[in-house]
Amino acid sequence: MIRFAYQFLPYMKLVFATNNPNKLAEVQKMLPSTIQLLSLKDIDCFDDIEETANTLEGNAQLKANYITQKFGHDCFADDTGLEVESLHNAPGVFSARYAGLENDSEKNMQKLLSELNDKPNRKAQFRTAISLNLQSKHFVFEGICKGEILSKKQGKKGFGYDPVFKPEGSNKSFAEMTSEDKNKISHRGKAIQQLVQFLMNYKK
Ligand code: IMP
Repeated sequence: MIRFAYQFLPYMKLVFATNNPNKLAEVQKMLPSTIQLLSLKDIDCFDDIEETANTLEGNAQLKANYITQKFGHDCFADDTGLEVESLHNAPGVFSARYAGLENDSEKNMQKLLSELNDKPNRKAQFRTAISLNLQSKHFVFEGICKGEILSKKQGKKGFGYDPVFKPEGSNKSFAEMTSEDKNKISHRGKAIQQLVQFLMNYKK
């Protein structure tokens, strides 16, 4: 139904700087057919794009800029981190590599649970930053999902820290939710909603 309202938008090709086909499909589903998303593979980019910034926004921007500068495409990129209040917002931008460079979710969760062992405050949030380069302009979007770190893992779905994160207002961890239910309230879902709204209303 929403699609009809946007059928007169000019056709636009936009690169989503990701190699994850699920992420790409999820965002494409939310966009009108006038906005066609391309993955890194679609533009023959197989480079290992560096994520050396010390903020989520910085890393998202590094990735988007790399594509725009090297391939000349309008592009957006995302970066997500888990920010734990009593750990001064760690692991944050280092969420993937918290327990080592290999991005091992099991080790990352065990390290997090042991760091929080003696801490009564278990408040945490996932935060996603999206950086968009569009027609030589730069825009940033953010999505936050507040919650808490459980004392042990719950559930088997999802990825990353999902089994130890319980969003506010829910009695289930992310790993106990369907991906549809998680996307409705998740950091990434919210950031993407903002991006989509922006693109739908964008005028040259
Ligand atoms: P990325 O920026 O989406 O690659 O996320 C960086 C890291 O944050 C991932 O490797 C995961 O460890 C963690 N992460 C990101 N999003 C989620 C999520 O929705 N659930 C659980 N962990 C996540």
